[in-house]
Amino acid sequence: MLILNMKKFYIKTFGCQMNMHDSEKAAGILKKEGMEQAESHEDTDIIIFNTCSIRQKAEQKFFSELGRLKRLKKKRPGLKIMVMGCIAQQMGEKIFKKAGHIDCIIGPQNIHSIKDAIDKNIIAALDENPAIAETELPADRKEKGRAWVSIMYGCNNFCTYCVVPYTRGREKSRPKESILKEVKGLADEGYKEITLLGQNVNSYRGEGGFTGLLRELNEMEGIERIRFVTSHPRDLSDGLTDSIGRLEKVCEHIHLPMQSGSDRALSMMNRGYTYREYKTKIDKLRNSVPGIAITSDIIAGFPGETEDDHKDTINALKELEFDGIFAFKFSERPGTKAAIMEGKLPEGIKTERLSEILGLQDEITLKKNKALEGKVLEVLVEDINKGENKEGHLTGRTRGNKIVNFSGSSFLVNKLVRVRIKKGMKHSLLGELLDENG
Ligand code: SF4
Repeated sequence: MLILNMKKFYIKTFGCQMNMHDSEKAAGILKKEGMEQAESHEDTDIIIFNTCSIRQKAEQKFFSELGRLKRLKKKRPGLKIMVMGCIAQQMGEKIFKKAGHIDCIIGPQNIHSIKDAIDKNIIAALDENPAIAETELPADRKEKGRAWVSIMYGCNNFCTYCVVPYTRGREKSRPKESILKEVKGLADEGYKEITLLGQNVNSYRGEGGFTGLLRELNEMEGIERIRFVTSHPRDLSDGLTDSIGRLEKVCEHIHLPMQSGSDRALSMMNRGYTYREYKTKIDKLRNSVPGIAITSDIIAGFPGETEDDHKDTINALKELEFDGIFAFKFSERPGTKAAIMEGKLPEGIKTERLSEILGLQDEITLKKNKALEGKVLEVLVEDINKGENKEGHLTGRTRGNKIVNFSGSSFLVNKLVRVRIKKGMKHSLLGELLDENG
């Protein structure tokens, strides 16, 4: 038997919010089953890596950390190493050849069976598993004011650069009643903000669709703020845009990945919209939701991207003026269509294009943040400011998802307060506390 007397587990997470929340669920399940979470890999019976394969860099980081554990495993042969998440799913049993000191692998569609995998000594749990959407999973959340809530799993879009449909499988929506029950529980525990998670939340197919779900959550007593991530531009309907404007608890922020400003590149990526169509959605959002903050994702140097395509992206950034972006160089992912496309660009060109994109966006973000100077905004206090790391320095987020640092006592953590913005900077805002009745 693998670990019948297993007591402690340690989880190291790589990647996105989806992975962070999967780790909260894995911890929730294992704790419910009587195991204890360890603070470090030194002091544990099982080490779980929750991995990300969205870009090569994240994958390299994981393998180098894993490599460092070889010696520990030799010293303590009873130590078990489990790999979960996207790399586990994508590499499957080939991973054992690359790293023989791994004991078991479990894909993201099988987290609900993590305890079984441990108890029954299952070496690989990688099936396409729709049951994950039907199973209520306890989550061990670290934060006490904000919570992630999965509303769907997987993706049907097959963007040509992306591994998600292969690692997380086809789209599966969680039943609405199960989501409402979880959020009600969070409200009862004092959580004020929820972020609905899914690869493409706009295509949620539970009863009433995504707009219906937002409407019901908006009525939930105790919950003050609702966010969601990620939205696919093609599935952002006018009805949803109107709802974001009308439902007072839905925050005035949307993350809407554009990826490129060039129609040629968008078509090679299989994104399903043109730049004009994307821009029309942005215009509608800005008309229906005054002051909405819009953030986006951009890929620099997609295979076959010409200098003109890149210029289209630069012009789009100037025209749309996002509040912020996540931009990355194209990273070839095995098994995707883009990995076998012609016209791969040299690293130097990708780096140059990325730095032009980031440099321009920094100026736009700064301008947007400066425009908030003098405004009074509602802030949910998240923590003591880690940079200052002392009493009297707080950090929180506006409804537009901007980080604000300001002075105040630690008893305000998890409370909504009103803050006047004194200074807008590139990555955050500096404010002064007005009162605690945001
Ligand atoms: S929408 Fe595209 S980029 Fe997003 S998860 Fe699905 S396939 Fe990947």
